[in-house]
Amino acid sequence: MVRLIIILALVAGFIVLYRSLFGSPRLHDPSDAAEMVQDPNCGVYVPKSQAVTRSVRGKGHCFCSERCANEFSAKYS
Ligand SMILES: [Zn+2]
Repeated sequence: MVRLIIILALVAGFIVLYRSLFGSPRLHDPSDAAEMVQDPNCGVYVPKSQAVTRSVRGKGHCFCSERCANEFSAKYS
């Protein structure tokens, strides 16, 4: 009976270890994709994956739309 408890504890420990090694990166991926960036033109927050990126004065900026990117680059270039 004691052996069974030890085996169960080992299995549980292995599952926790396995999840911490291989489970968490998979859980972190969606949050990375949903990282929010602020549009410097209108101040709106957009997911980085959907943002329009434009280099203005050598610095990369993320915009909510092409229109904002064009407005911002027109203002600062
Ligand atoms: Zn915008």
